[in-house]
Order: sequence, then structure tokens, then C-alpha cells
Amino acid sequence: MVNKINYSQIVDELKVYNANLVAVTKTKPVEDIMTLYNLGQRVFGENRVQELVEKQELLPNDVEWHLIGSLQRNKVKYIAEYVSMIHSVHSLKLLIEINKQAKKCNRIINCLLQFHIADEQTKFGLSLDDAFDLLNSDIFKEMANISILGVMGMATFSNDMHKVRNEFKQLRSYFEQLKNSFFVDDINFNEVSMGMSGDYEIALEEGSTLVRVGSLLYKN
Ligand SMILES: *Cc1c(COP(=O)(O)O)cnc(C)c1O
Repeated sequence: MVNKINYSQIVDELKVYNANLVAVTKTKPVEDIMTLYNLGQRVFGENRVQELVEKQELLPNDVEWHLIGSLQRNKVKYIAEYVSMIHSVHSLKLLIEINKQAKKCNRIINCLLQFHIADEQTKFGLSLDDAFDLLNSDIFKEMANISILGVMGMATFSNDMHKVRNEFKQLRSYFEQLKNSFFVDDINFNEVSMGMSGDYEIALEEGSTLVRVGSLLYKN
């Protein structure tokens, strides 16, 4: 069940930072999404394609669906028609497929480059060098159906908030370096997707523009 008090507190905090909420609804029923929708929430995040597809069919058309979890290339086609942002782009191969499927739908798909900022090897993502290689490649420069809007990362799952803060600082600095090197004149490159239930306040202090909060929206 949705905790409406937590939801409105988070929304108020975000206003102070001019940041936006991706309400993470993975494993939650459609009724919870509708409750949040009726409170005014439009941006929802899912981490599995299958689940996103099933929910999309049942929810209003003005919901903006964000894919935040790892994406396999063979599944891009299922969401290409409507997904409004893919946070988890971690390879050129994946980007090529997103571009191809977007072109078939005659759309431009918004993407974020996911960086590896945590200690855990289970978390995936690019290094800064990887991102430079990707953005410098001729293949990338020819892609007309994707738009890179910024960066995304997940901090280490840890109680050490100093460590978490430093990881967010690092992601923010990656964003600045990419902005200066590739997107100086691109006003759309302005998203830093970082912060979850346990660390979103630190993420906001470190320059997050999009927080992905799940469990806190449902806790009693
Ligand atoms: C589940 C998930 C979140 C939300 O996590 P909570 O701790 O429930 O807020 C954010 N980002 C990603 C990529 C996730 O998979």
C-alpha cells in the first residue's frame, strides 16, 4: 500500500532542489500505481521489461515509463514504442539496438548512460573511459533516434554515508566532464539520475536531478 504521507514529503523535498521523482513500482500492484497516479505522479520506473509491458497495458496513456534496470538487447523491441527514458545504457551495442528499434517506431528514445560507481561487482555500468569511447565513436555520431540526456548510477549498498556521498560526487563529476566534452551546447543534457530510498537526500545534496525511490513510498 502507498504511504501518502511519505510520498508528499518526498515531493516537497524535491521541489527545493528542483529535482524530479521516478516512482519505482517494481513488484508493486497496479492499484498502487493508480494511487500514486491519482496523487499526481506521472513518472514511474520499472526494472524488468516483462513487468513494465504488463503494467503499461493497464495504465493511462499519459504515464511516463522509465526503464531503470538492466536491459537485454533482445527485449528493447517490446518497449520501444512508448518508453520515455532508459536509464541503464551501459554499452554501445545496446545503444545501437535502442536506436534501431526507435527508428522503426519513428521516435527518439531518451537515454542515460549508466556508470559503475559502487564497489559491488554485481552492479554494472560504464567507466568514464568507456563513455568517452562510446561518445567519440562514429557509430554513435550517426545515431539519429536516440537522445542522451545525462547519466545514472547506483551507490554501494552501505551504511557508510561518507562513502555513498563520494560515489555520488563522482557521478556528478562524470556528468560535468561529459557535458564539457560532448554536450556543451545541448540544453537537453541535464539529468543526473541518482538516489534511492536510503540515500536520496544525500544524492540531492550532491546534485541529483532525478531520484528513483521505491520502498519508501510504501512503508508504514
Ligand atoms: C529498485 C530500484 C530502485 C529503488 O530502490 P528503493 O531502495 O526501493 O528506493 C532504484 N533504482 C533501481 C535501479 C532499482 O532497481
